[in-house]
Amino acid sequence: MTVTESAPGGTAEPAGVSAARHAAGTRSVHEGILRRQSARESAARTYARALPIVPVRARGMTIEGADGRRYLDCLSGAGTLALGHNHPVVLEAIRKVLDSGAPLHVLDLATPVKDAFITELFHTLPPGLADHARVQFCGPAGTDAVEAAFKLVRSATGRTGMLAFTGAYHGMTAGALEASGHAFDVRVTRLPYPQDYRCPFGIGGAHGAELAARWTESVLDDPKSGVPRPAGMILEPVQGEGGVIPAPDTWMRRMREITAARSIPLIADEVQTGVGRTGAFWAVEHSGVTPDVMVLSKAIGGSLPLALVVYRDDLDVWEPGAHAGTFRGNQLAMAAGTATLAHVRENRLAERAADLGTRMLSQLRSLADEFFCVGDVRGRGLMIGVEVVDPEAGAEAEPSTDGEAHTDSSHDRAVRAVDPADAQAPLRDPRPAAPELAAAVQRECLRRGLIVELGGRHSSVVRLLPPLTISDEQATAVLDRLADAVAAVARDRHPSRRGGPVAPT
Ligand code: PMP
Repeated sequence: MTVTESAPGGTAEPAGVSAARHAAGTRSVHEGILRRQSARESAARTYARALPIVPVRARGMTIEGADGRRYLDCLSGAGTLALGHNHPVVLEAIRKVLDSGAPLHVLDLATPVKDAFITELFHTLPPGLADHARVQFCGPAGTDAVEAAFKLVRSATGRTGMLAFTGAYHGMTAGALEASGHAFDVRVTRLPYPQDYRCPFGIGGAHGAELAARWTESVLDDPKSGVPRPAGMILEPVQGEGGVIPAPDTWMRRMREITAARSIPLIADEVQTGVGRTGAFWAVEHSGVTPDVMVLSKAIGGSLPLALVVYRDDLDVWEPGAHAGTFRGNQLAMAAGTATLAHVRENRLAERAADLGTRMLSQLRSLADEFFCVGDVRGRGLMIGVEVVDPEAGAEAEPSTDGEAHTDSSHDRAVRAVDPADAQAPLRDPRPAAPELAAAVQRECLRRGLIVELGGRHSSVVRLLPPLTISDEQATAVLDRLADAVAAVARDRHPSRRGGPVAPT
């Protein structure tokens, strides 16, 4: 055993002993910080509850905790870190502003830093919008930009109502909460968002999406629907917090047609889907839809707080000061954001997200075939969700060749007929969500050094939001750790089956 360090007091001690001492020290720092956090911070704290880690260093996809443990971060600041933690181009941009002596706080005054940010932002916008766009900087949270968007279209149309969708998440301020369904207000009408696995019509696919679109049309055109002509419609091209649900492109185009035909401004909330995340620079590009308004935050600030609304210039009829706020001029965020937008664009990271996302999804789908508790795997680009379901539900229904009861993970087999004689009209019957199992998967991931988030209507969707810079090796490590975590949870649930792959049916 080599002696490498001196203990306090000058006595040499073996390296193994000093390493153990060091580990105990870092553990106690880590535990002390967590103990003080739970004693002093709000009961409303969120991520900190499921992820008891104390990040002290981070680079790319890796976070190092105060306990010395390293984690692969698939939460990325709730989808904020397009380039991962502390990317060199972001750090360089921030340092440049700091070293230049530029003011850091300027309200909404013009600066060269802001000018460069707007130029880069407009460079990336869908062409139909870029040609006639205006931008309003908002208070530095996505939710404030949502409020601004509502105010904008209400001013422009003279109407008050808003259309939003089931499962939406737009933020935590009053108007955004209404649109997210957490408050009741006559001003927001909620319409069905298309989804395959838990389709409200029991159908899913193109047919389910078309029914959802027709419901929207009928609400708008039925003079007795109780819904007056609204000021706008807000939608997420892929619902994030709602459980990683990509809207079909045809449904997106239907929403564009329906709103355009009725002079209803369409607001795309790209707070989470923007900046390459879904495999296109903006998620609306997949469908070719040009919204009238886009709400942007998270990745556009390159890991620092920044939020804004961009919109067609003919909507720009609100009064000076209609949407104010002290912190609308964060120069460091604008510099970090400019560097991030340019890096994603120049390095075609959206395409990388599309390719890698497709590969990750197809590998994850094999989990749904292997494990009872994986009900659905879905996503777009590097916005991926794995829905965890009750493995027991329906288990007796399908005796298999090996004599064991098997539930089936694939959609097609999770159906029942409306009328048993009518095989043409099957209704989807997904197994119930399993939030406790999803939380167990999250815990097992963390034990294996993988940070994932939960979301979805029932908090039963394991969400992966890795940075767009994730390497192939890191993606493999993420998938291995997740598969291992799911296997461990399945094993705990069914010790006799050892949690491993089930026999094919
Ligand atoms: N819109 C969407 C689509 C979001 O995902 C979020 C945050 N998760 C928000 C708005 C609100 O952003 P913030 O938390 O910065 O207010």
